[in-house]
Amino acid sequence: MNDASEDKLIDGRELAQAVRDEVRSDIQAWTDEGHRAPFLSAVLVGDNPASEAYVRGKEKDAAEVGIATDTHHLDADTSQDALLELVHDLNAAPSVDGILVQLPLPDHMDAHAAIDAVDPSKDVDGFHPENLGRLLRGTPRFVPATPYGIMEMLSRSGIDPEGMDAVIVGRSNIVGKPLATLLLRRTANATVTVCHSRTRDLAAHTRRADLLVAAAGQAAFIDGTMVKEGAVVIDVGINRVDAPSAERGYRLVGDVDFEDVRPKASRITPVPGGVGLMTRAMLLKNTLEAARLHAQ
Ligand code: NAD
Repeated sequence: MNDASEDKLIDGRELAQAVRDEVRSDIQAWTDEGHRAPFLSAVLVGDNPASEAYVRGKEKDAAEVGIATDTHHLDADTSQDALLELVHDLNAAPSVDGILVQLPLPDHMDAHAAIDAVDPSKDVDGFHPENLGRLLRGTPRFVPATPYGIMEMLSRSGIDPEGMDAVIVGRSNIVGKPLATLLLRRTANATVTVCHSRTRDLAAHTRRADLLVAAAGQAAFIDGTMVKEGAVVIDVGINRVDAPSAERGYRLVGDVDFEDVRPKASRITPVPGGVGLMTRAMLLKNTLEAARLHAQ
């Protein structure tokens, strides 16, 4: 990689470290004022290895910045009622600032019901309808961590979306839809198109994007022919592809064919080492906000 392409890289490791350093010093100041450390409770149902790895990552990050955590492991065959009962207990616990129900839940559980059960003032994932409604209305409280992290990456990289044609590929409730809302706000002022699996001629949309965000969950499917010269490319996708030579037998790739797109992009995020780390960092920021909210 030459120097010019190094400059193109939006380095999630560096940016997420900067966010964690800020949160750590804010928490230090908070506890110096006599408050207890913020407390995050995670709920993990079943033994999905990816979910277990995510929760471990969140615990590690939390420890680094001074957030206390506990994780409630429930068996895969736990009933929906037992899950809701646990969430209600955590809602009622004055020591708990943030609650995170790790998704996906097993098939017999209703994820919407679990999300709805979380006290909106403890919903650090920002998935509760009240928090999504607040975001849509323009008075956000907890912003979902992935889109929040993307906005933070842009601003910390000196990229102003104002007036840009922003094209988001993926319309999920946790990435595409809240990100579209954030980019539409008067604080960002992008013109937003959201593409999805039923979009006709996806490339016609992606090719006119000044800001292209790929969040479809399809390995390396955005290639150089789909990207405009000089575009900012944000790769949200995290996909496992077989790699027999790798220690774990797989490697992680994004939705963007990085090597093919890099020469055309003005800025680009890598996978791994991009949006995923920012997502984790923004959860910490939300947990500190929750602690502040509960101290009022
Ligand atoms: P999802 O499955 O809920 O949604 C995927 C969206 O992409 C859908 O709206 C679908 O219509 C669209 N889509 C799928 N194939 C498409 C295609 N060929 N063309 C156009 N649109 C297509 O997924 P999600 O939860 O939003 O996650 C998307 C990806 O982002 C996954 O790889 C996931 O692992 C990753 N992810 C990463 C982070 C992070 O922190 N980096 C966070 C959340 C999700």
